[in-house]
Amino acid sequence: MQLIVEAIMSSQSSSSEPRPDSPPQTQLDSPLIPAGEMVLPTLHGDGSRRWINPALAQGKYWRRRRNLAYALIAFFVTLPHLRYGGKPIVLLDIAAREFTFFGHTFYPTDTPLVALLMLTVFFTVMFITAVGGRLWCGWGCPQTVYLEFLFRPIDRLFAGTRGKGGTPKRSVNAFLQVARLLVYLACSLFLAHTFLSYFIGTEELSKWMQLSPLKHPQAFGVMAVATAALMYNFLFFREQLCMVACPYGRFQSVMLDRKSLIVTYDIHRGEPRHKGRLVTGTGGDCIDCGHCTAVCPTGIDIRNGLQMECIHCTQCIDACNDVMERVKKPLGLIRYSSQDALDGNSKGWFRPRTFIYPALALVTSTLFVLVLWTKFSFDARVLRSPGVPYTVLSSRTLQNNFRIRLVNRSQQRETYQARILVPEGATAQWSDVEPELNPGENALMPLVITGPVGLTSGTGSVDGTLELSDSSGNKKLLHLRLLGPH
Ligand code: SF4
Ligand code: SF4
Repeated sequence: MQLIVEAIMSSQSSSSEPRPDSPPQTQLDSPLIPAGEMVLPTLHGDGSRRWINPALAQGKYWRRRRNLAYALIAFFVTLPHLRYGGKPIVLLDIAAREFTFFGHTFYPTDTPLVALLMLTVFFTVMFITAVGGRLWCGWGCPQTVYLEFLFRPIDRLFAGTRGKGGTPKRSVNAFLQVARLLVYLACSLFLAHTFLSYFIGTEELSKWMQLSPLKHPQAFGVMAVATAALMYNFLFFREQLCMVACPYGRFQSVMLDRKSLIVTYDIHRGEPRHKGRLVTGTGGDCIDCGHCTAVCPTGIDIRNGLQMECIHCTQCIDACNDVMERVKKPLGLIRYSSQDALDGNSKGWFRPRTFIYPALALVTSTLFVLVLWTKFSFDARVLRSPGVPYTVLSSRTLQNNFRIRLVNRSQQRETYQARILVPEGATAQWSDVEPELNPGENALMPLVITGPVGLTSGTGSVDGTLELSDSSGNKKLLHLRLLGPH
């Protein structure tokens, strides 16, 4: 344990090394060739990790983000315990291939519904990103929420900071480091169990927690891997996830345009920057104090313009506003704005995509509601049985064999009856036992239709209507064609 603690302390103690905007270091004794320019803000020139230990700016945006983060954490933890219509509000039962949302259970056969839902989410995300930029990354993403408002506060609690809102101290005794690791472990275990409850339900989770792991090794394995992944992510990987692993962050970044809302430095007002606290008169408003870079959780300098690594967390806005207050300059040198607005062009957010995306989202969401509304309690499809198309029995009776694909979409066990409405004189009968299906279950049931041979005389076929009904009284009419002699 001592070795682990020392490794963590030494690896994370390099936070005061030069920022990425400083020239890359040349290490003559390094076997690696130093990069000619900055590759990632979290890498040194020789490719080694540059640990980011940001200071904290407790400004207006930080307070708002903190309130939202606590609400989101409470939501995530509470949701699996809530019930609607006797069912969990959300249950993603992958083993049973059932997905429950607000009392509705979706089965693998509900592909159109899932497709419509996904399209609605997709168009909504595109719209929000086009208008509000990476709002999700800075305000709602679990990585940001848990790192900035759960795990970093734990660091500050155990390590302490250099001054109010400063970076965490570098030398921390081993006892506090062990205590910090234990708190990390407790939080990761809690989050992993909560995550698991979305897939198995809270009752099942509670039962499993009271049993030996040997009785449910797979679920225990999932929980152990999830806990280890959380520990690794929040102890070591941290901001790297946003920069090198998150496809969603990249996806959002490429959807920004010049009118999208971004966190940006007002270069026209800030430059030329002056080192020193109380510079007035000529020059720009930036006093080159470095506070905006000291608080950045991804280690970048917002003054270098819009960057892929910026998760729009607004910490640099809070830090710079604090500085502007002290030097008695207007707030907002770093602020929410758009590239067009900064350049003095139109500030409006109207453009084709801000109409097209919501319109498409409205269409798909309306279709989703309509399909959901009209979703029948069971699905049925008629298939002709392979082999001879028809049989004439010795009693001059015509027989056609079909198979009915039945899917029980209701929430209770159902039995099904079959009846021929057209043509008159024909009868339908399940060739095996009457079908009885559990919720979500499907089956291929053989059905025999018989009638007088004369039904098909003249044409060799006749159209028919089959009525299927379940034990709850829901009925469905299906078309079929009876074949027979001319
Ligand atoms: S915090 Fe503001 S004044 Fe200080 S360096 Fe950053 S932009 Fe300039
Ligand atoms: S540049 Fe500013 S908004 Fe972007 S990640 Fe850094 S602190 Fe957050």
